[in-house]
Amino acid sequence: MATSQSLLAPYHGIHLAAAQAGCEQVAWQAPLPRVDRVRVREHTCECRTVVYELCATSGLVFVRRHYRKSGTITVWESPWLRTAEGMSLWDAILRGFAR
Ligand SMILES: [Zn+2]
Repeated sequence: MATSQSLLAPYHGIHLAAAQAGCEQVAWQAPLPRVDRVRVREHTCECRTVVYELCATSGLVFVRRHYRKSGTITVWESPWLRTAEGMSLWDAILRGFAR
């Protein structure tokens, strides 16, 4: 019988590591409506002012950055990358090596 772990799981999602010294600057750009469907594969914890999403579409991966302040959300996108590169960008952001 399958049992749900949801009651035991921590309430919070992924929290980013603090930015490391010499952390890479991501070339954030304003989002363009390039495709209809984007799948959010992972996202960082909603408790933070800045939430990052790992997005995937038609073989490409990019990171979306939501900055929430006083009711408004500003959205930026990283460059669109091939899956391997996109995954290492996501990993670098989580670990504080890119922001
Ligand atoms: Zn949190």
